[in-house]
Amino acid sequence: MTRVRLAAAGAVIGVVLLALAGCASSAASGASWHASGSGSAPAVGQSAGDPLTHPIAGPGSTDTAKPPASASASPSAPPSPSESASASPSTPASSAPPSDNIIRTTGSSGVALTFDDGPGPDTPTILKMLREQGIKATFCVIGVNVQEYPQYVQAIVNDGHTLCNHTWKHDESLGKKSADTIRADLQKTNDEIHKAVPDAQIKYFRHPGGNFTPAAVQIASELGMKSLGWTVDPSDWNLKKWSGQQMTNHICSNVRNNTKPGSIVLSHDGGGDRSATMAAYKTLLPELKSKFTLIAMPV
Ligand SMILES: [Zn+2]
Repeated sequence: MTRVRLAAAGAVIGVVLLALAGCASSAASGASWHASGSGSAPAVGQSAGDPLTHPIAGPGSTDTAKPPASASASPSAPPSPSESASASPSTPASSAPPSDNIIRTTGSSGVALTFDDGPGPDTPTILKMLREQGIKATFCVIGVNVQEYPQYVQAIVNDGHTLCNHTWKHDESLGKKSADTIRADLQKTNDEIHKAVPDAQIKYFRHPGGNFTPAAVQIASELGMKSLGWTVDPSDWNLKKWSGQQMTNHICSNVRNNTKPGSIVLSHDGGGDRSATMAAYKTLLPELKSKFTLIAMPV
């Protein structure tokens, strides 16, 4: 009996330790949330250092999806308005995309959490945390990962989250390839999602690395998908720069400092070790929920 009790106590301690593994709460740390409506919005989509080297590295299922080494060699600026003037004029205005037709805010006071590069082994944990908080989010999934984890795509849809096409294998230079290549990649990814969930709605497309091109935006639009950028990027993918508790703290402070009504927050449930992301969101989800209306991108 004693041994049982000890084991039980150990389990409780383990749970408590796990629960403490997040970042300090904003009250405890003295951190403050971004005052709504003030300050300047982060640069559209691409904050410094973000996505141009955005790997989906790691020992996980996405090794095959690693972009070629040259993918990061040619930083591409977001398409300028003039470059994208010919982009589809048919994009619905409900989310008020700018002239390059890339959505970078929710278009309402709602805040949208988005998770990229999955599904993967950590997706069920993220889903569980979201479920416990009653929060809906948006998942930008990679085709090869959908192929490997179709059950997680089903879980995403069953929980009422929104899906977003993040290409077949995270080719960061896809948008620079031929129209046929881009279309085939996006269609193949949608087809794989539909194998997992036949009636899944896929209304969003996010180019890997945020490297949208007018051609990719146009083709996504033709396939019924709006191009989805972001407002807040805590760079949880950058495991070379931060790791462990340091990464967790970085994610928390970055999201706290930059999220405001209308923000689209970029994080990752796949593509590498996401333990820091999960730890951060364990703390962040209740905080975000108390300050904002959290929404899945509407379909
Ligand atoms: Zn990605």
